[in-house]
Amino acid sequence: MECSHKNISTKKVKKEIFDMIFEAKTSVCSDCGAYLRDNEYERKYMHWLEGIYKERRDKFQTQCHFSKNIISCAEAYLADYPGISPTVFMRALVTIYFNVVDRDEKKSTLLESLLDPEILESFTNDKDRKKINIQFKPNMMIELIAVSEFLEMSPSAIVEEVVVKLMTVITSHDQKLREFWENEIRGYLDMFLKAA
Ligand SMILES: [Zn+2]
Repeated sequence: MECSHKNISTKKVKKEIFDMIFEAKTSVCSDCGAYLRDNEYERKYMHWLEGIYKERRDKFQTQCHFSKNIISCAEAYLADYPGISPTVFMRALVTIYFNVVDRDEKKSTLLESLLDPEILESFTNDKDRKKINIQFKPNMMIELIAVSEFLEMSPSAIVEEVVVKLMTVITSHDQKLREFWENEIRGYLDMFLKAA
């Protein structure tokens, strides 16, 4: 039977993130032990994270490895955006993917069905790789960590996968992928890169 959380008490709870511990009081169900995080708890958590964001930027970075092939495709795309580095571009791709594609089941299913496995593989199997650190804002990092816990993959592996997918879309000559790019991604990316 599902617990209806009737016996609530306030307790100090711990949450581990980035090998650090966040501690705050919140409502806890005495019957099932569930943490019922209220707005006050979430507010304190975000405040705590922003403090860490200021002092420990390294915790908000993912260390990725990309094929030289992908990096040169990114640089070619960025020829129209002077001053934007591939790192900023990749962060934009990941943020747009999670906010636009991943949240919408129709769009994510469509994208998966259109991706060309051969091009994906050519980007993934390239042994000639370069390390790139991509830094995220607290909100995006929280989402990445949640996804990584769910999929049991590291945040870096997820970022690599998303970048490879979207670079495949960018470099594709397939009509449907071109349309997906024009309709779903390009506008957001333009906005993101102009603001960067
Ligand atoms: Zn309960």
